Amino acid sequence: MPVSGLPPYDDQNIFARILRGEIPCKKVFENAFALAFHDIHPQAPVHVLVIPKGPYCSFADFSASASEAEIAGFIRAVGSVAKDLGLEAPGYRLLANMGEQSGQEVPHFHVHLFGGRPLGRMIPAA
Ligand code: AMP
Repeated sequence: MPVSGLPPYDDQNIFARILRGEIPCKKVFENAFALAFHDIHPQAPVHVLVIPKGPYCSFADFSASASEAEIAGFIRAVGSVAKDLGLEAPGYRLLANMGEQSGQEVPHFHVHLFGGRPLGRMIPAA
């Protein structure tokens, strides 16, 4: 369910369509809880998106409404993807945009996983 005051889940968003197999993705991981695929406009040598299988608009929605199994399954999937991509030793960054001021473009909760080079400061100057 959407968080009060935020729009309902749009099942035509691009990640919903990827989950349904209607459009392709460069998949790196999939299980019952999560799908991970390469970002179409990578901003680092490794830029992977990890998304939950369930219909959650954002982190706010997911954290408030997903079951404990979905939350645990998703978080473990993010960790597995990072490990399988060889990013634990050099390090990596996770980022989740939530809402208008963050610049969230796709209204299906997703975590960006960046790595493959020194990533600099957390938030570049606007
Ligand atoms: P955000 O601004 O946090 O909503 O990030 C959305 C991300 O989705 C951006 O980094 C886009 O490059 C990425 N993206 C949009 N469409 C696709 C797609 N079809 N396949 C892979 N990544 C996509």
